[in-house]
Amino acid sequence: MNRPALSRRALLTGAAATVIGFNTTTRTWATTNTPTPPGCITPLPPIQGTLTTNTTTRTAYAQDFGRLTTTTPYAVLNPAGAPDIATIINFARRNQLKVAMNGQSGTGNDLESHSNYGQAGVAGGISINARALNRIHTITPTNATVDAGVTWAQLTEAALTQNLTPPCLTDYLHLSIGGTISVGGIGSTVHKHGLQADTVESIEIVTGTGRILTASPTRNPDLFHTALAGAGQVGIITRATVKLIPAPQNARVFTLTYDNQNTFLTDQQTLLADGRFPSQVGEILIQPTGQPPRYKIEAVAHYNGTTPPDPTPLLTGLNPTTTDITDQTYRDYTYRADTFADTIKNLGYWNAPKPWLSLFLPASTTPTFLTEALPHITPDDIGAGLLLCYPFHTNKLTHPLAITPNEPITYLFDFLAFPHPNTNPTPALTRNRTLYNRATQLGAKRYLVGAIPNMTQTDWQNHYGPHWTTLTTAKNTYDPTHTLTPGQNIFP
Ligand SMILES: Cc1cc2nc3c(=O)[nH]c(=O)nc-3n(C[C@H](O)[C@H](O)[C@H](O)COP(=O)(O)OP(=O)(O)OC[C@H]3O[C@@H](n4cnc5c(N)ncnc54)[C@H](O)[C@@H]3O)c2cc1C
Repeated sequence: MNRPALSRRALLTGAAATVIGFNTTTRTWATTNTPTPPGCITPLPPIQGTLTTNTTTRTAYAQDFGRLTTTTPYAVLNPAGAPDIATIINFARRNQLKVAMNGQSGTGNDLESHSNYGQAGVAGGISINARALNRIHTITPTNATVDAGVTWAQLTEAALTQNLTPPCLTDYLHLSIGGTISVGGIGSTVHKHGLQADTVESIEIVTGTGRILTASPTRNPDLFHTALAGAGQVGIITRATVKLIPAPQNARVFTLTYDNQNTFLTDQQTLLADGRFPSQVGEILIQPTGQPPRYKIEAVAHYNGTTPPDPTPLLTGLNPTTTDITDQTYRDYTYRADTFADTIKNLGYWNAPKPWLSLFLPASTTPTFLTEALPHITPDDIGAGLLLCYPFHTNKLTHPLAITPNEPITYLFDFLAFPHPNTNPTPALTRNRTLYNRATQLGAKRYLVGAIPNMTQTDWQNHYGPHWTTLTTAKNTYDPTHTLTPGQNIFP
């Protein structure tokens, strides 16, 4: 969408007065109502979009989906394109302000960063509204070029009209493409296609030095490989070309339940070993106190036409307690989390604190971790949420900053808690930290999303291990003033 150019006086839209620049002495915005000696004001450069300072907007950006942190920005940029972001990054650098992209994921009026612990927060800095960049530019038989604020739901909808689909989709589709490829983006086909970040062919990115660059495996490859799953540390991704593959018409969903943890894990790895299902996830079903957990595998076969695949060869060698088979369209399967989200919203749990914990466990220590951790997780801790647990091969991940355990197979342990809205989240955050500490002793790594309190720079160095140098080298090159994405707290 093209917007008319704005005069400098209209650049910032505040509730009380027009902002004309940043007062470097008081470190507040200078407005037409508060005359200041000109020498103290850094005037705002022209942009095509808008920068708003009104309290309602800033307050809306102060929290994220987790409802666990408050980081109120000074202003929110609605960019018209990459040049606006470059202009604002340069302005921010001159004035020692921080900048972060905010995915503004979600549907309807529920737009916000879908992080849990302030990862997109930028206290006293400038938030960028990703949704302002929301165009699908092209769709070809093998890829799509989209703005960073386009959601996977928007892209999937458009791709399906051409019988195409992104190969890797998050369970919930209403997430910004720029946001998930900045953290990784995991879904039920990770064992086949890697993370969503691994399905990106090229990006347009504004670096922390205000340069607009194209990056791909052959153009600026160091930038490409550190921007993807790079926690927004080297640049703001404004556009991405992502792979598309032919979409199947239908999905045959096999739901296998287990009473025994070992059988559940063995069957998961049997399926992983021969990759017989294009889509495979697992879940731990926490039971009322005193009862052992139950387990579930959801494996999906795809087909076209009216004849679904024969279950017999697909279930060979598996030992579930119960088996259920249903058929649905591929579209309905990919949008399955919408019903779940609607239910949670209707229950009133959506806007409550959600202390999620996402870990990658080494396969060799997963049984130990589960045996130790699960007795400390109650049905009330999970609430209306769920606990995912499924394996994939770590060599499917192609970007160095997508950190997983140093083993061929890892298990995602994704504790997606939706506790009762009146629950005090503090004990859950303490529990997350305790589980993280124990998991790392067992060789686990965290996913960048989720809520783990008190991450120190030492924690991050341990997290990145040998790739700490990869990250710091890229940071020094592309964001030497540490202007970008402070909410991850990697470079405090
Ligand atoms: C209901 C729900 C379901 C989810 N399901 C899944 C799932 O199935 N799989 C999965 O992997 N995750 C899932 N997530 C987590 C999701 O991937 C993260 O929340 C992720 O951060 C994307 O959210 P976002 O687009 O709102 O980005 P934000 O949360 O706003 O941003 C995430 C981080 O990346 C930075 N960032 C955002 N956009 C850019 C950009 N364009 N360039 C540079 N940096 C950027 C931000 O500053 C921040 O640090 C889910 C979250 C929710 C709430």
